[in-house]
Amino acid sequence: MQIYDHPTFRMACQQFDLVADHLQIPADDRDRLKYPKRSMTVALPIHRDDGRTEVFTGYRVQHHLTLGPTKGGLRYHPDVALGEVAALAMWMSWKCALTGLPYGGAKGGIACDPRKMSVTELERLTRRYTQEMIPFIGPQIDVMAPDVGTNEQTMAWMMDTYSVHMGSTISSIVTGKPVGLGGSVGRREATGRGVGYLVNRAMDTIKLDAAKATAVVQGYGNVGSIAALSMARNGLKVIAVSDALGGLFNAAGLDLWKLDDHVAKERTVVGFSEAEPITNEQLLVTPCDVLVPAAMERQITAANAGKIQCRILAEAANGPTTPEADEILAQRPEIFVIPDILCNAGGVIVSYFEWVQDLQSFFWTETEVVDKLFRILEGAFTQTLHLSRKQNVSMRLAAMSLGVKRVQEAKRTRGLFP
Ligand code: NAD
Repeated sequence: MQIYDHPTFRMACQQFDLVADHLQIPADDRDRLKYPKRSMTVALPIHRDDGRTEVFTGYRVQHHLTLGPTKGGLRYHPDVALGEVAALAMWMSWKCALTGLPYGGAKGGIACDPRKMSVTELERLTRRYTQEMIPFIGPQIDVMAPDVGTNEQTMAWMMDTYSVHMGSTISSIVTGKPVGLGGSVGRREATGRGVGYLVNRAMDTIKLDAAKATAVVQGYGNVGSIAALSMARNGLKVIAVSDALGGLFNAAGLDLWKLDDHVAKERTVVGFSEAEPITNEQLLVTPCDVLVPAAMERQITAANAGKIQCRILAEAANGPTTPEADEILAQRPEIFVIPDILCNAGGVIVSYFEWVQDLQSFFWTETEVVDKLFRILEGAFTQTLHLSRKQNVSMRLAAMSLGVKRVQEAKRTRGLFP
């Protein structure tokens, strides 16, 4: 399908084709599984603060409707394109199925640079996007959540716009909201915390001692900063981090609490005094035990996969490793990969908890949330590792096989409609 053509969509399709060959999925089933069920592109005119009117483009892709409502984040970034959103929606489908959540995958985005917009402009843009999406979303149809460039405030504006339209407060329309508006405790931390949990499980698996291990994190945003903190709490030394503007290195370990104060003031890690500056390219090849890409897609490529120097590659971002890089990593069995659809699944798992709590108007404690989160991650990790060893395939192929097979079986037993 030409409309989705984009390097990230081609990458998601290449990964799918490998799994489909491995599972021997008949040709008739492949296009149904691969291509999104629905996609929307909307024009979003807003007033800028200087009085100009500017039109932004927004997208939403709902990958499949077979297992329940669709679920997935909303991204604000200048490079957002329909094909990228479609790839992210497809990965969400496999992730939800791998972890047993009653959802299809979705993703949305607006091509904009939130760093160059005021809070009032972002509010107008978010409300306009929500308004345009009203015919296509709902607690039983499609539920959004934060992703790159969006946060709890974005979700609060969406929830408010939808509720005003419907005439009553409908908190289950989005997840990742502020706790005071029906958000779940532990949602903001869920993705990074899940990464920390799975890094521990991977360290157990390859017998790595956390107290002697070092970690490097690319992308010090919501996911990367919490993943770094979780690993530090588990005893690892975080020696390098970065964001879109640059990176930091300190062989003795970064003081993450001081770094967080710096980021709260400056909105970037750059300029932190207790570290040396490094580039994002240098960061990815820094020797360490655990490398955590937590920024954007296609960071580990054929150009650098042979040079990364870690024992565990924990894919906190979606799609950080290209299929060409995967081929190189297959020749490097010393690197244990926690694939993205498993590694960052903590976010959608706690989003599911938030949706369930909102639908029931019955809220859980943080202990309950974290305990249930770790149980689901444990099950998915164990099943993936077991299949990878049993079939002698990569962790990515194992995780994707589990996800794709569940969606395929559901489509088979339901019929052609969803
Ligand atoms: P975020 O906007 O909070 O943070 C992203 C960070 O990455 C920022 O610090 C940004 O400056 C940095 N960054 C962007 N481009 C970069 C580049 N080229 N090099 C280095 N750093 C760069 O976003 P987030 O919510 O933390 O999402 C990060 C990743 O995790 C994305 O791939 C997202 O899809 C994935 N993810 C997020 C969640 C969630 O719950 N937020 C859940 C699952 C997966």
